[in-house]
Amino acid sequence: RSRGPMILGHETVGTIASAGAEALRRWGVKEGDRVALEEYVPCGHCEFCRSGDFRLCEATDWRSGGLRYGATPVSVEPGLWGGYAEFQFLHPNTVFHRVPDAVSPVHAALALPLANGIEWAYLQGRAGPGDVVVIQGPGQQGLSCAAAASEAGASLIIVTGLSSPTDQRRLDLAKRLGAHHTIDIENEDLLETVAELTGGHMADLVIDCASGGPQSVASAVQLARKKGRVILGGQKRKKIPEFDSDMVIAKFLTLKGMRGHSYVSVELALGMIAANRHNIREMSTHTFPLSQVDAALKTLVGQGAEAAVHCTVDPWSA
Ligand SMILES: [Zn+2]
Repeated sequence: RSRGPMILGHETVGTIASAGAEALRRWGVKEGDRVALEEYVPCGHCEFCRSGDFRLCEATDWRSGGLRYGATPVSVEPGLWGGYAEFQFLHPNTVFHRVPDAVSPVHAALALPLANGIEWAYLQGRAGPGDVVVIQGPGQQGLSCAAAASEAGASLIIVTGLSSPTDQRRLDLAKRLGAHHTIDIENEDLLETVAELTGGHMADLVIDCASGGPQSVASAVQLARKKGRVILGGQKRKKIPEFDSDMVIAKFLTLKGMRGHSYVSVELALGMIAANRHNIREMSTHTFPLSQVDAALKTLVGQGAEAAVHCTVDPWSA
C-alpha cells in the first residue's frame, strides 16, 4: 500500500547546517558538526528508547504510520524526510552519531548497514573467540555480519551464496572482510561442507540473511550445533509451511528474530570504519550524484553498474 511520494534515503550522513540554540543544546551538537543519523525518529521516552533499541519503539514502526527518515511521505510536514537531497529536516527526536573527522562521508554512510552486522553477529548473536559462525546470504547484511564476526574474534566464519556472478563477487569480498570459507550452495552440499570444515562440530551461530525462499530457515536450524544460536534476519514475506520445531527443542537452540541496529552498534560501526578494520571500506563500491538516484537504485538490484555492494548518493557532487 503506497503512502504517497516520499524522498528516499535512510542512511544519512551530513553536517548540521542550521539549528536553533535550544535544539543545539538538547542535541549536544553545533552547526558544522558532521553526523550520521539513525533512520528511526523515536518517541524518546519508552522502554525501548531508554535502552537504545529505537527500532522497537512504536513511534518508529512504519507499519503503523511511524516516522522514519527515508520512509515518510512528503505529505507529512515539512516533507524533507529523506537523505537523497541537499538538505534534510531534523526532527527534535533525531538520533545523532558523531562522525570522526578522518572518515569520509561516503565511508561513514556504511555505519547503519555495518551496525546491523555488529548487532546481529556480535551483540545479539554473541559471536566470540572459538565460535564457528555460518552466515547465509552475501548481501550487505551478510557481509556486515562477516566483518563483525571477524572483529569479535570468531574462529571460523563461513559465508554462503549462490552461483550467480553477483554472489560470487560478494563471496570474494566476504573473504576480504574476514570470512575463512565460502560455500556456493548450488554446487556444494551445504550441510556436508560445513560438517567437513568443522570436523562435525557444526555452527555455534547461524545467521540467516538470505531473502529468498524458506529453505534457508530450515538449513539454519540444521546447521546449528546443540546449544547453538540461530539469528533469523532475512525476511521471506511468506509463511513457512513445514517448520521442524522439534529440532529446535532437541538441539536446545536459541532462535532469535532480528532487524536493524541499536545505538551502541552504530557507535561500534563508526569505530570500525574509522580504523578500516577488516577492509570494511571496500563495501562502499559506487557513488552517484543526486541526478542519478534512479541509476543508483537500479544498480542495487543488479540492473545498473556492475559489482555493486553499497551505493552512496552524494547530493553535492555533479
Ligand atoms: Zn520510544
